[in-house]
Amino acid sequence: MSRVYNFSAGPAMLPESVMRRAAEEMLDWQGTGMSVMEMSHRGKAYVSIAERAEADLRELLNIPDNYRVLFLQGGATGQFSAVPMNLLRGANRADYVYTGSWSKKAISEAKKFCQVNVAASGEPDLMHVPEFSEWQLADDAAYVHITPNETISGVEFTWTPEVGDKPLVADMSSNLLSRPLDVSKFGLIYAGAQKNIGPAGVTLVIVRDDLLGGAMAQTPTVWDYKQQADADSMLNTPATYPLYIAGLVFQWLKELGGLEKMAEINQRKAQKLYSAIDNSSFYSNPVAPENRSWMNVPFVLADSSLDAKFLEEAQAVGLTTLKGHRSVGGMRASIYNAMPEAGVDRLIEFMADFEKRNG
Ligand code: PMP
Repeated sequence: MSRVYNFSAGPAMLPESVMRRAAEEMLDWQGTGMSVMEMSHRGKAYVSIAERAEADLRELLNIPDNYRVLFLQGGATGQFSAVPMNLLRGANRADYVYTGSWSKKAISEAKKFCQVNVAASGEPDLMHVPEFSEWQLADDAAYVHITPNETISGVEFTWTPEVGDKPLVADMSSNLLSRPLDVSKFGLIYAGAQKNIGPAGVTLVIVRDDLLGGAMAQTPTVWDYKQQADADSMLNTPATYPLYIAGLVFQWLKELGGLEKMAEINQRKAQKLYSAIDNSSFYSNPVAPENRSWMNVPFVLADSSLDAKFLEEAQAVGLTTLKGHRSVGGMRASIYNAMPEAGVDRLIEFMADFEKRNG
């Protein structure tokens, strides 16, 4: 068996120890004689798995008691509409901050439900987070939505805006669990799982309990946070296996030393990759230095005619999925929690070698 360093933006690498444990438990989970995939979601065994996953996540993120944790389906994209359906609560406007492709998608979906006030925009370059002093929040907006890490362009917030009484809503699909977070500053946080949490299929929502119960009358039941909270996210059959794996990932993070330790490693991984890029005239990254993502590191080659060769040779030495998003081109190295530091070191080594041979 030879595993590669997979720099995919998601679904992305998972910790090897998690997958080994899942493999061991695949046919017979802890003496039950069945796989987690085969279990009733209402049975004692599965309920214990789901409860443990939530407890471990609460511990990792230090989630206050007045927040509910929901494990839903439909991805972060589903949340683009669930958020307005649940949080408008009679209002007809919401504030959105536009920082890149994912916030753009959140905005276009929200427009189906209300007027969107683009309170701040990173245009024209979309390579930085607009300063808070420039934000123009609308008085009648029901909530403020941000995308703290733009997965495609690699633009990340380094601060959490203080938006007063309005709930702050964050799409943290690509940076949740990468470092400690003060959950109490948010009304709602959501994330698709397939980067730092687990396999695709489960979607995490962390919501302050006073925001439950105000969904629009026509909100489909599965998208109603209150109904899902009342049913412990088991209003219908949940994504049982993905949540089980997410639970193992949470255990892995705890064993590693929690999010402070994870942050230390992530910062080091990102810093060395950005230094390698900055110290070369062959590679470059266009993002404002203070907003460079720890998770997604896009870079371009000075001579784009070498892109295909770069990707082919990287692949040949086990460095895969480095092609940048089709909308921006170039390369992107996604270095989520489960990307070993050795993978980043190997990439840096390869980049230097490729430059020497082609620069
Ligand atoms: N938001 C962000 C920041 C993302 O990175 C992604 C997925 N790459 C999405 C939303 C969409 O997530 P999903 O595919 O789970 O709907």
